[in-house]
This record gives sequence, C-alpha cells and structure tokens, in this order.
Amino acid sequence: MSSALGGARDLARGGRLYPAVILHGGDDAARREGAFELARTLLCAAPAGERPCGGCRHCRRLAPAARGGDAAPFHPDFHLLERDLKTATSVEATRGLLREAQSAPFEARGQVFVVPSAQTLSPEAANALLKILEEPPDRAPRHFLLLAPSQYDLLPTLRSRSLPVYLGPAARLPADEVHELAASFGARARAWAGTRSPVWLLAAAEALGQAGGWEDPRAERPWCLAAAAVREAARDEACPPPLRRALLALAESLLEGTRLRVRGIPAERILEGLVARHLA
Ligand SMILES: [Zn+2]
Repeated sequence: MSSALGGARDLARGGRLYPAVILHGGDDAARREGAFELARTLLCAAPAGERPCGGCRHCRRLAPAARGGDAAPFHPDFHLLERDLKTATSVEATRGLLREAQSAPFEARGQVFVVPSAQTLSPEAANALLKILEEPPDRAPRHFLLLAPSQYDLLPTLRSRSLPVYLGPAARLPADEVHELAASFGARARAWAGTRSPVWLLAAAEALGQAGGWEDPRAERPWCLAAAAVREAARDEACPPPLRRALLALAESLLEGTRLRVRGIPAERILEGLVARHLA
C-alpha cells in the first residue's frame, strides 16, 4: 500500500476523511483496489482502530473475492458509477448516483460513492457532483472517491474540494535510469554540501533535468523519476545526515512538480527553485 493511501485510511478510521478524495497515479486496478480499501475502512463495523477488520458483513461484501472480478459488489451503501458512454461518464448517470446520496444509509454508518473513471466526467456531470459537495451532509457521512490517472484530469473546482491521494507512478521506474540519475545528482549535491558554492546547486538541478519528458506539462513520470533518484542519493552512505534530511524533503516536493508545471512554469525553473529551497 502506498504511504499516501495509508494516511487516507488512518483519516477514514478516525472518521476524519474528506468528503471527496481523488485517488490518482498507479494503474486502474491499483486505484480500484485503493477505493475498496477505503470503502471497507469507512463502512466497517469494527472499532475504529481495527478498521477494516475483514470479517464483518460490510468488509466481507466489499472483499475482492466477493466481487468476483470486476462485478460491482452488492452493498446498499456502496455505489459505483462506471463510465456509461464510450468516452464519458454522463450527467444523467451522475444525477442517478447523486439521488442515492440524498437518502440515508441503509445499513452502514455512512455511504461511499466511487467514480472509477472520474477523468471522463462531463463538465455538467462534474458540476452536479460539485453541488453535492458544497452542501453539508445533513445526516450520515457520505464519501466520494474519484479515481483518475492524474488529479489534473479533474476540474480545478473539484480538485480544490478534494483530498488528492497519490498512489505512485503508473509503471515501475527502471532501476538503471534511477541509478544513473541518482549518481549524477548525488555527486553534485555532496559537492554543494562540501563547498557551499552555488554553482553546484545549479548543477544538481541540471542533473535532475536529465530525467527528460518535460515537454508534456501534465506528465508525472519525470517528477517521479527525479524524486526516486533524489531518494536513492539520500540513501547513499557518503551522504552526510543533514543533507540526507534535506534530500528526503526535496524528493517529497518533487512529486508536486506537475502542479507548478501546469501553471506554465518551465521545468528547469521549478527544479532550480526546489533544489535551492531545500538545499540552500
Ligand atoms: Zn469490517
């Protein structure tokens, strides 16, 4: 499980999860599994610390085996809105789902609504969903889990009302690419720590730029690759502990890089800015 999903699950256990969560990154199967894990946690009948228990009737009905592959599980408080058109999740289907959100839960203490292809929500469908999120729930908690390859596939208005949970890169990053980038970046970062000469900060940022693939402002892979390289450089025995802490914080920030990139800031400026902020 990704640490981000673990964090969301902890919030769900304590009844503190946002009403809307965007599960993004990973592949389709990982996002669906993440949604079921959160749904079991939200609906489970066990004491908070033990959720999801795996044994109560809610957990059992939402378990992978009970679902029989991709079939929607039967649980009256769990609703799955699959894409109904070839390329879109229609406003009609979305309104149908939202009508369920106006009724009280049948069995569990709340309701869970999952939109597995949220990137295909039509603008009207997204706005209908947004209206529901703006109304405070008057009865039991209801949670919307929106699944998409990237959180940037969703309207900014929807994103601003949701907790994004990043499940990691869609494909495994090739170890040799990470290693090569880590070696080049790590040497420059250590040179900076030893000399405090700003030229090494720029050189370190430049090394991360070698991750490539920055042309597409929404691409997450280069940021994931750069973050993985920085984490690997931090694990190097030659890395002094204060620098290690700074590198781990930098790796975390790099995963947010797309957010700045979609605002039109060139990748090299972002890399220079993040490297300077954490290392200088
Ligand atoms: Zn349970």
